[in-house]
Amino acid sequence: MMMAKHEPVELPPTITVRELAQKLEVTPIELIKTLMNVGVMAGINQTIDFETAEIVAAEMGKEVRLAVPEAEKEKEEEAGELPLWRKWLLAEPAAKLQPRPPVVAILGHVDHGKTTLLDAIRHTNVAAREAGGITQHISAYQIEHDGRLITFLDTPGHAAFTSLRARGAKGADIVVLVVAADDGVMPQTREAISHAKAARVPIVVAINKVDKPNAQPEKVRRQLADLGLVPQEWGGDTIMVEISAKERLNLDELLEAILLVADTADIRANPQGRVFGTVIEAQVKKGQGVVATLLVQNGTLRVGDVLVAGTTYGKVRALLDFRGQRIKEAGPSTPVAMLGFHDIPQAGSLFYKVKNEKEARQIVAERQEAEKKAAQATPRMTLEEFFQRLQEGEVKELRLVVKVDVQGSLEPVVRAIEEVGERSEAQARILHADVGNITENDVMLAAASDAVIIGFNVKPDAAARRVAEHEGVSIRTYRVIYNLLDDIEKALKGLLEPEKQEVVLGEAEVLAVFPSSRFGKVAGARVRRGVIRRNGRIRVLRGDEVVFDGEIGSLKRFQEDVREVREGFEFGIGLKNFKDFQVGDRLVCYTIETVQSA
Ligand code: GDP
Repeated sequence: MMMAKHEPVELPPTITVRELAQKLEVTPIELIKTLMNVGVMAGINQTIDFETAEIVAAEMGKEVRLAVPEAEKEKEEEAGELPLWRKWLLAEPAAKLQPRPPVVAILGHVDHGKTTLLDAIRHTNVAAREAGGITQHISAYQIEHDGRLITFLDTPGHAAFTSLRARGAKGADIVVLVVAADDGVMPQTREAISHAKAARVPIVVAINKVDKPNAQPEKVRRQLADLGLVPQEWGGDTIMVEISAKERLNLDELLEAILLVADTADIRANPQGRVFGTVIEAQVKKGQGVVATLLVQNGTLRVGDVLVAGTTYGKVRALLDFRGQRIKEAGPSTPVAMLGFHDIPQAGSLFYKVKNEKEARQIVAERQEAEKKAAQATPRMTLEEFFQRLQEGEVKELRLVVKVDVQGSLEPVVRAIEEVGERSEAQARILHADVGNITENDVMLAAASDAVIIGFNVKPDAAARRVAEHEGVSIRTYRVIYNLLDDIEKALKGLLEPEKQEVVLGEAEVLAVFPSSRFGKVAGARVRRGVIRRNGRIRVLRGDEVVFDGEIGSLKRFQEDVREVREGFEFGIGLKNFKDFQVGDRLVCYTIETVQSA
């Protein structure tokens, strides 16, 4: 039927894989394969959202559209995506509400100057102090302007962190949209506008980089006006300030604009009211346990309070302000670091105070139970099924288990890996991605599915290391995201053409030969250069001739077994399956490393 091709298929907001296959007139297997190609592992009975359905449909050359009854459309838009904390604020008695500092999130396209602007406002250079030059952890800070406080959510500056910034918009009262005057409106600019609109947060536009000779602020205004952000100069209601974050030009004007918008936005809270707010970031720190960055949005948070956030809870052991100073309490719009959660709460989730730990435990138990039920309701594809599908298709892929240190890094790292995969001929497939150290479970999963484990700022625990060695599972850990991505890119190339490389560790000369009951003969030798390692391999050279190539049976210094012997030192060595040493033989110690493959 020719018509069906042109008419988009109408879909509900969520749909099972089986139903979607029917609607698109494809087999479920075809659909599942395509889903996998776009990075979604879903079983036939699993429900997927419209966004995902739209992507796979496009992959399969089909057009779809969200079926929304006309009458409901407006209602839906009106209800919007009002964040929970806003709804809770509405429940506070109006008479008790007091002005609080505005909370500002800075959004915009990558490289348009968000980080530079945040740094300029903070008067410090955050980026330079981070490993690899990336601001890896979300945080928040407060500044004073005209005797008034403004809270800035300081979200990371890497390209892949866009969605994190979007989450930041949910906790914000005002969004500063940064648009580079030499580049204009870009995809993430539009994305940011959508997020701000969805959260119904007013936008102040910062037209940045006006110091550049090729800056075209007028063009930016035109482009934004086309998107519904009409500048005040043109009779609209969007304040646009031309700035240079780099030259720190017009920053005061920008801060004034923020305060002006704040004055019209009814930014209030009840300091005596119910204590709640948004989790900005959380991570485990050595010796401190879980450290969560919280934005208090109502009430006054105090040391000793018991908080629930998602499926975790904890008693506030300590509060630190953004400078790291200990404080006893924090009122509305104050960002604080809080110590005391038992587990890492999800970034972006709502936290609130409960009566006591008993109540907290009860709430958390109920939520965990509900999560479990929800997980059972949407069955995951088993690994067995996965293999079957794999054999049916001809996908070459690198399977990965990804572990990261903080919630906020999870999504960006996963996304970045997926992007690398999209650029390469071979696919990168993330089987599992989570926050926390690499555990035995991760290794078992990797072993069962022939996957490589990637750790970002995390390490394997002792049990995991043991199992990994036993099962031959490769674990790679990184501190800098660029190195991680670089390795994966290489690995993807290596999968097409795996290559092994010999790495010479060192060389020794045989000085004496002794009888040995275990090896027949052992050699006494001295390291001429480099190092001789117990787990390396040895090649025995006599002149230019290789007389033996094999494994080390024992490596000793003064009767002691040692792991390595360094340059200049003497040692005793026995080789497996070799006893024909002669004085003057050269022993080359080397290892085999796989290059371009993880
Ligand atoms: P982000 O990705 O939005 O956080 O962008 P960055 O703050 O990292 O800035 C991207 C690049 O633009 C950096 O090289 C900055 O030095 C540069 N930049 C930022 N603001 C300005 C500005 O006002 N003028 C000029 N000339 N360069 C800027």
